[in-house]
Amino acid sequence: MFEKLKEYGTEELHFCNDEESGLKAIIAIHSTVLGPTVGGTRFWPYESEEKALFDVLRLSRGMTYKNAVSGLKYGGSKGVIIGDPAKLKSEKLLLAYGRFVDHLAGMFTTGEDVNISVQDVEIMSRATKHMAGIGGAGRGGDPSPYTARGVFRGLQAGANEKFGSDSFSGKTVAVQGLGKVGYDVCKWLHDDGAKLIVSDINPANAERAKNELGATVVDPSEILFVDCDVFSPNAMGAVVKVDEVTKLKCAMIGGGANNVLVDAAAGEALDKAGILYIPDYVINAGGVISICLEIERVHDEQVANRKMDGIYDNVKNLLDFANKEKLPTYLAADKYAQKIVDDARPFRK
Ligand code: NAD
Repeated sequence: MFEKLKEYGTEELHFCNDEESGLKAIIAIHSTVLGPTVGGTRFWPYESEEKALFDVLRLSRGMTYKNAVSGLKYGGSKGVIIGDPAKLKSEKLLLAYGRFVDHLAGMFTTGEDVNISVQDVEIMSRATKHMAGIGGAGRGGDPSPYTARGVFRGLQAGANEKFGSDSFSGKTVAVQGLGKVGYDVCKWLHDDGAKLIVSDINPANAERAKNELGATVVDPSEILFVDCDVFSPNAMGAVVKVDEVTKLKCAMIGGGANNVLVDAAAGEALDKAGILYIPDYVINAGGVISICLEIERVHDEQVANRKMDGIYDNVKNLLDFANKEKLPTYLAADKYAQKIVDDARPFRK
C-alpha cells in the first residue's frame, strides 16, 4: 500500500465504511502543500477495490495539478464511493459520506462528479459544511457557465499561439457535446464569429445549436474527423486515440472534457502531427476555481468572471513553458504543475 502512495506522491488515504447504509468509499488527499484540498466525489460500480484505489489515486493527483496550474492555494484530493449508484444511493448513504467528509475538518472539500448530483451534494451538506457547488449566499452554484467561459478564454490563448490571433472570426470549430459546458462554449465562439460544426448524442441539443447558433450538425461518429481549425471536446473523456490521430483535420484541440487523451501515446502523436493540444485540466479549471471562491464564501459573479478570464494566462504560461522545455503540452502540464508544488514545499506551514 505504501508503495502505491509513493508512486503517486499521495499523502493520505481514508477508507470509509458504514455498515448501516452500505457505504464503502475511499478519500485520497493527494497533496496539502498548496493548502487544504479540493476535489469532487464520484460514485462508480468499480469491478474491484484495486480499480477504485487506482482511480482515486490518479484523479486526486490530477486535482493537485489542476489546482496548481490554476494558481489556487488548494491542494488536490478526490473521493470515490464504490458500488452501483442505481442500487445503493440513498439519503442514509449520502449523509454517512457527509459525516466522513466532516471528520476531515476542512482538509477535504468536495462536491459533484460522475453520478453525484447537486441534489446529492445538498443532502451530504446536511452532515458537513465542507461541500461546494451548491446555491446560497456567497456560493457559486452550478460551475458550468464558469467552466465554459474559462474554456473559451483558454481557446483564445491557444488560437493566439497557433494562428497568431485571439479571434475566432472566420475559424471553424467542431464541438463535441452540447451539454451545460459545451453549449455555452458554442455561444462564446459564435459571438466571436466562429463557424460551428456540432454533435451531440441527444438530437435535441444539436437541433438547438442549429436553430440558435446556425451550427452545422453532424453524426456523433463524424465530429472528431471533420475538416476544422479547432476541435473542442465537451462530452466524455478518452476521445483522442493514438491510431486515429492521422485522421484528424484540426490544428488545435481544447475543451471542457476531462481526460481527453486515451493515453500518453495519443499526446505524443498529436505533438508529432503538429496539432496543438491544450491540456484538459488547464483549460477546464473554471469549475474548481468557482468552487474555491465558494469555499471562502466570497463568490461574486464579477470576481469569478475575472478569474475565468485568467485562464487565458494560465494556458499561455503553460504553452510558453512547453516551448521552452521542448515538451509536448500534455507532458509539460504535469511537469509545470509539479514544479509549482515543489517550489512551494519549503514554505509550507
Ligand atoms: P453534460 O452532461 O451537461 O453534457 C455532456 C453532453 O455531451 C450531453 O449533452 C451529452 O448528450 C453529450 N454527449 C455524451 N456523449 C457524447 C458523444 N459521444 N458525442 C457527442 N455528444 C455526447 O456535462 P457537462 O457538465 O457539460 O460536462 C461536459 C464535460 O466537461 C464532462 O467531461 C465533464 O467532466 C467536464 N467538466 C465539466 C465541468 C463543469 O463545470 N460542468 C468542469 C470541468 C470539467
